[in-house]
Amino acid sequence: AAPPDTPLPPTRLGPNTGTTLPTPSKALNDRVGLIRGDITKLAVDAIVNAANQSLLGGGGVDEAIHRAAGPRLYRECRALGGCATGSAKMTGAYALPARRVVHAVGPVYNPFDRAGSERLLTGCYTRSLELAAEGGCRTVAFSAISTGVYGYPSRDAAPAALSAIRAFLTGPDGEKIDKVVVVTFEMKDVEAYNQFIPLYFPPV
Ligand code: ADP
Repeated sequence: AAPPDTPLPPTRLGPNTGTTLPTPSKALNDRVGLIRGDITKLAVDAIVNAANQSLLGGGGVDEAIHRAAGPRLYRECRALGGCATGSAKMTGAYALPARRVVHAVGPVYNPFDRAGSERLLTGCYTRSLELAAEGGCRTVAFSAISTGVYGYPSRDAAPAALSAIRAFLTGPDGEKIDKVVVVTFEMKDVEAYNQFIPLYFPPV
């Protein structure tokens, strides 16, 4: 993954700390936010890693999370025996400021099976939110899953992510989660989310 265009200082994020950037939407605006920065710095209940099927670490955000969490995270992941694409597993967060890490395995983007890619990507978001809710995590920060090395175009990944987040927050277990933030690291993802958040979380 490419580095950010501009470095950002560490961000503290609690349920009501008001540190999320304002989104252009009004409806559910206190439930969804966009943060540009490093997900390893966020003090949320759960951060969502863009992992691979081995759950043994990789490049990009996965590498950054393992480096910041320390070797105990690797040891817990090794005992999990991997994870299917389109699903997720949860661990402790060790030296990270977050409480838990959800390791979501996004698809390698397949331009010849866009519907299949989308089904797997939305599966990651839905399963991650289910795990977070089951684990009592009320604030959740997502990486831009699959948009790095896995090649998923940001303009397609952002609406898929937002539709899954919206479906969960408006569904039967939606009240179990207070706030979801999407953490963007690169300009292409900032642009995609700024375009699509008002469509999925429209002004009232
Ligand atoms: P994948 O293999 O699922 O595509 P990558 O880690 O390559 O995962 O990329 C996922 C996204 O995470 C990309 O948008 C990348 O820029 C971003 N990213 C990389 N490092 C960080 C970080 N420290 N915090 C937040 N996002 C990051």
